[in-house]
Amino acid sequence: MSIGLHANHRLPATIQLINLFMLACLLSWVGIFTRPIGAFSLFWPVNAILLGLMLRKPGYATPVGWSAMYLGMIAADLTTGEGWVLALWLNICNMALIATGYSVMLLLPQSQRRMGKPQAILYMFTACLLGAAVAATLSALRNDNLYNNTAMVTWVSWFSEQFSTNLLILPVILAAPRLKQLLRLQINWQWRTGMPLLALLCSLAFSVYIGGPGAIAFPIPALLWCAVRYQLFTVTLLTLLTGLTEIISISANLMLYETSGPHVTVIDTLMSARLGIAMLVMGPLILSSSLVVNRKLLRRLEHSANYDFLTGALGRSALTRKAKELLEHKYQAKEAVSLLLIDIDHFKLINDTHGHVIGDHVLSAFSHIMRRELRHDQLFGRLGGEEFAIMMPRALAAQAMALGEYLRRRIENADLNPNGKEPLRITISIGVASLAMNEEKSLEQLMSMADIALYRAKSQGRNRVESFNMISGSQLNYTMFK
Ligand code: GH3
Ligand code: MG
Ligand code: MG
Repeated sequence: MSIGLHANHRLPATIQLINLFMLACLLSWVGIFTRPIGAFSLFWPVNAILLGLMLRKPGYATPVGWSAMYLGMIAADLTTGEGWVLALWLNICNMALIATGYSVMLLLPQSQRRMGKPQAILYMFTACLLGAAVAATLSALRNDNLYNNTAMVTWVSWFSEQFSTNLLILPVILAAPRLKQLLRLQINWQWRTGMPLLALLCSLAFSVYIGGPGAIAFPIPALLWCAVRYQLFTVTLLTLLTGLTEIISISANLMLYETSGPHVTVIDTLMSARLGIAMLVMGPLILSSSLVVNRKLLRRLEHSANYDFLTGALGRSALTRKAKELLEHKYQAKEAVSLLLIDIDHFKLINDTHGHVIGDHVLSAFSHIMRRELRHDQLFGRLGGEEFAIMMPRALAAQAMALGEYLRRRIENADLNPNGKEPLRITISIGVASLAMNEEKSLEQLMSMADIALYRAKSQGRNRVESFNMISGSQLNYTMFK
């Protein structure tokens, strides 16, 4: 690929560059048309969106990609009547911001750039701070009384606007789910889910209504509540909503700030408020991303506590717990239930012939087949070594025998060493025990019944399924469990 875009993008490189050019141009147009006449932009989201795009799609971050973006911005300025010199210079300031922010974010590993860890938020804060400072300095350097401001006012205006805008927009772009995930999203709306959002809207309305210097902090408790309840992406949208509402209210003088003091002008109040708002939203963002880490850790911990590492089947204790719950439910619902105990035949021989590593591989391949064959409501667990169990809800002895027989044949015909030269086959013996609708037994009793059936399957030559309920003379054994 001659122009250096990564090959893993599906669209041809030239189309991507045209897209980048058009996007930069389009976003700039939107920014220009929403800019109050004769003043700095109230809100210039172009840089944050393009910076987010470069971070999400690093394939674009090539010299040609950067140039396409720069040209797109210049084209937007020129087509809206800006002079050449100013178009070149203003967009150098914009590009400097994006490049500085990009360089700071590159210090983070790729996996963390989507705000999944609190430290990513701190990097993003630094990226916005330095990016805005570099852009503001460049714009003040060329100070030629643009909009009749002094260099200092130019600097602070650029800095406060870009710092706050980037800090509000960039998290949204970085945390946004991919289109595929977004389409799969199911919204499970309950009135309780909406409470934090409602609290946020009320406190926002309250802050605009009450006004004064403290009002920008009013929505913070509600935002923290949202951070605890909602996904990170939703929180980034809500911080954006909060920030935008406050900035617009202050600039429209809705929040009734004191503007008559000797040092205070409307623009100074706005600058100060912008910086304050940017700082305030950091708290909810950090809280939300640390909860992402916590939830991930909890899920991992829960998985390793419940599932066997080698085979992915339920571990013994989780299987026991879930099987007891199932029995409990069986008694209440008056349903049948069956237990299948499975033992791999002559497994020791596999270890002795092929080695322990292949033995492990066989165990995992066996479990993989079983999990694929079983339904979600059928519990499959590893009791230890090469012994496994299946709890089948709502199944009488005949159904359990049929499943056992199906699985026995499925395993008998499977090659458990598909990458090896020689096919590796195993057989299994299965002992089945069932409880009819009105039978009550403990899990231990059910296990012992299945164990007797398994023992019988082994002693009758292995590679068989035997049922405790159907063993001739089992009535004799059966009495010992009554
Ligand atoms: P039988 O048909 O009577 O069940 O014979 P068997 O060889 O399968 O039974 P035995 O209980 O004598 O041997 C079980 C073997 O399973 C012994 C042990 O080394 C092996 N084993 C248990 N856990 C693991 C494991 O996690 N990995 C491997 N590779 N082998 C294991
Ligand atoms: Mg065994
Ligand atoms: Mg065995």
